[in-house]
Amino acid sequence: MKILVINAGSSSLKYQLIDMVSKNVLAKGNCERIGIDGRFKHQTGDGRKFEREMPLPDHRVAFKLVIETLTSGEGAVIESIKEISAVGHRVVHGGDKFTQSVLVTDEVLREFQGVINFAPLHNPPALSGIEACRDTLGKEIPNVMVFDTAFHQTMPPHAYTFGVPYKYYEKYRVRRYGAHGTSHRYVSLRCAELLGKKPEDTKIVTCHLGNGSSISAVDAGKCVDTSMGFTPLGGIIMGTRSGDLDPSVVTFIMEKEGISPRDMEQLLNKESGFIGISGISSDDRDLEEATAKGIERSKIAQDAQRYQIKKYVGAYAAAMGGIDALVFTGGIGENSCLLRAAVCENMEYLGIEMDAAKNDTTIRGKEGDISVPGTKTRVYVIPTNEEYMIAVDTKTIVEG
Ligand code: ADP
Repeated sequence: MKILVINAGSSSLKYQLIDMVSKNVLAKGNCERIGIDGRFKHQTGDGRKFEREMPLPDHRVAFKLVIETLTSGEGAVIESIKEISAVGHRVVHGGDKFTQSVLVTDEVLREFQGVINFAPLHNPPALSGIEACRDTLGKEIPNVMVFDTAFHQTMPPHAYTFGVPYKYYEKYRVRRYGAHGTSHRYVSLRCAELLGKKPEDTKIVTCHLGNGSSISAVDAGKCVDTSMGFTPLGGIIMGTRSGDLDPSVVTFIMEKEGISPRDMEQLLNKESGFIGISGISSDDRDLEEATAKGIERSKIAQDAQRYQIKKYVGAYAAAMGGIDALVFTGGIGENSCLLRAAVCENMEYLGIEMDAAKNDTTIRGKEGDISVPGTKTRVYVIPTNEEYMIAVDTKTIVEG
């Protein structure tokens, strides 16, 4: 069984064709600059690779190109579209309507219209991707929507309710939704496997740390809390996002600087976090270099993020009444041994003790237990694989 995974952004369409028997990626690639000019990158599992510039006016044209490339010419990995059993689509926000992955039907797409504005930059392109796919492949090949927010829908009201008048929840569904759910789900399931336990018997804190970062408390296989909020702006300091603030900071700056809500949103999403504090870069590797040279603001930005992660680990251990494992994933989580060491320092009271040598040698693409053998709480680095998780859901749903 082969599953095509589609991740459509506003000007991009990423894809992976996964063989669910061997679990191998047969081909993957990205259509970039859709609606601008167009760039196409394709790579096969056996090492064929090319990159082209070509007009990509919309997602439909991009999707057709993906299908043509997979089935014919130098990048082909299958003989016909009939070999594609189903298509799984990454969807950023399902509001509180979608609590799990769903098979696409006309009715589901109508329902999706009700939550499309929760992620105005991401949800409409996902819909374009689904429509392009249905047009090109026909309705016989099933499509499945996999929502980034779905894993967090098990949070109880006391974890998702904000302290603003309740009418705004009733009127606009203002609450915590979280993000990166597919990643948190994948690494927490894998972590349970590594612990040799059923997910129901575990308490895990998962840290997805990349350009965007979020932390989740996963108790008995279910998310009970997560750091991102109504949008991915909440939680810890990130590459360009502020994370949580005293809300009056927002109104104070807006008033003093005469900034509109739209510009303030830009400031908090694109000009804050690492880039805002350091004034140097949003990229952790750049800050690593700058901090090593003694640049104070770079150190403050990194220390602040690490301190916040540490606080979340403590808070979530308290929320769950314990912790069996702490998981690091994402570009920073998988690579930065300095961050992991800083977060785990002085955590013996939670049974967390890091093995410095293992920590230093566990970097990108490498899975590993980096805790001292015999200590109570395991610390793992687990490379995330959202595409595989989407493919697994798609397979499960189409097989009924
Ligand atoms: P995204 O969140 O956009 O998917 P990634 O998960 O790839 O991005 O994470 C990007 C972040 O990972 C950047 O801040 C980058 O600096 C960081 N990163 C990647 N490699 C390393 C490394 N070797 N050491 C420290 N940070 C790294």
